[in-house]
Amino acid sequence: MKDQRIVIVGGGVAGLEIATALGRRHGIRRRRRGPRPTIILIDRDSAHIWKPMLHTLAAGTRDLAQQQLTYIAQAHDAGFHYQQGELCGIDRGSRRIALAPLLAPDGRELVLARTVSYDALILAVGSTANDFGTPGVDEFCYLLDTRLAAEAFNQELRIRMMQSLVREEALRIAIVGAGATGVELAAELVQLAEAAVAYGADGLDRQFRITLIESGPRILAAFPERIAQLATQRLRSLGVDVRLDTRVARVTAHGFVTADGESIAADLRVWAAGVEAPAFLAEVDGLQTTRNHQVVVDGNLRAVGDPRIFALGDCASLTPAGETQALAPTAQVAHQQARYLIRHLEDLLLGKPVAPYRYRDFGALVSLGHFDAYGSLGKFGFFEGGFIKGRAAQLSHAMLYRSHQSRLYGFWRGGLIWLVDLINRRVKPSIRLD
Ligand SMILES: Cc1cc2nc3c(=O)[nH]c(=O)nc-3n(C[C@H](O)[C@H](O)[C@H](O)COP(=O)(O)OP(=O)(O)OC[C@H]3O[C@@H](n4cnc5c(N)ncnc54)[C@H](O)[C@@H]3O)c2cc1C
Repeated sequence: MKDQRIVIVGGGVAGLEIATALGRRHGIRRRRRGPRPTIILIDRDSAHIWKPMLHTLAAGTRDLAQQQLTYIAQAHDAGFHYQQGELCGIDRGSRRIALAPLLAPDGRELVLARTVSYDALILAVGSTANDFGTPGVDEFCYLLDTRLAAEAFNQELRIRMMQSLVREEALRIAIVGAGATGVELAAELVQLAEAAVAYGADGLDRQFRITLIESGPRILAAFPERIAQLATQRLRSLGVDVRLDTRVARVTAHGFVTADGESIAADLRVWAAGVEAPAFLAEVDGLQTTRNHQVVVDGNLRAVGDPRIFALGDCASLTPAGETQALAPTAQVAHQQARYLIRHLEDLLLGKPVAPYRYRDFGALVSLGHFDAYGSLGKFGFFEGGFIKGRAAQLSHAMLYRSHQSRLYGFWRGGLIWLVDLINRRVKPSIRLD
């Protein structure tokens, strides 16, 4: 890679792990002489958050300030360059990417539109929920795709909780999409209401009306049937109204209208269904993309049609040899693909033959707040195809996050941060009370 410019766009689960590892290996803090690659991370946000915890930030059962990691600090520690900017186009001919102007919340222009050159481009821009063209989603629903969106939902939730208490009215929250995001958010909201009662919000748990709406015949479609059944029973026992086979046709300011014409009233509406990659990817000349705008990649995670562009995580579509379905957009896939590129990028850029990426299924976990967790153990490892629940599953779920942190901070610092979190859980309120 010598003196090449490696530009990574998207500092999420995959992108930040790559930037950190390459920065530590080749970056500006290494005192090695001679040419070395320039590692540049570009993200539209100024701080990273482990996306699978966004529902806890939305519910206010975790503190955003404590969990986020600013890119400037990480770039300084790991030795890569960071630029804030939103990718909006790629000129493959001149090998330049276009970044949109950066605007303040009030619309003022902070940084002008600009272009950045690359020798190798790694796309890790993730995904957003997919509204499937449903009218009203943009206008009337909250999405949980970014830390700012989770924060915006939480701001509104706290206002509505206060109003509901003072007016002694129900607070109706409806979530569309019963994948991991919707299911975990529903449970976390029940946990929030219980904790609020413990802090003196008498009756709030009875005023919370949570509805989970799913178009399919069961929740957690990507999980084994047994997990879906257990999670459904548990959610219902917690008072969540789980509605299956219910397709939303329209969203209004007052709730959802189903394809059968039924109205489901909701004061707060969350859209957590489907997944699609950013739309601009489908407009890049010469790149092959799927219906959901994901970049189609080969076994080496190279974009089909351009060997200098790599794509991984939620924004990429890889169908392993011999399979008919592309890999699911999960944190596990994003992390494993990041590890593959960290190991093989140098050889791939030198044109050496590298064995294709192989996905290893270590199972899937879903957490219902502090109430329960369920997991399948996947096709690899000692407990092949097994099932876990309760404390073991909760600990495994926590370990996914903690191992991501240790890859970013290093083993000892990551461990210290975990310890600080455990102490904070003892000494600070368990929900946001401001
Ligand atoms: C609430 C919730 C719960 C989840 N729970 C689980 C779970 O339990 N297990 C699991 O495996 N998966 C879970 N997922 C899915 C998991 O979070 C994703 O699969 C994973 O984050 C994908 O990683 P990524 O690196 O591809 O993208 P991300 O982690 O989403 O990172 C994308 C990054 O790109 C940046 N970006 C986006 N567009 C641009 C642009 N145009 N220009 C510059 N930067 C850009 C974003 O700011 C972000 O930093 C959950 C997701 C959500 C929302």
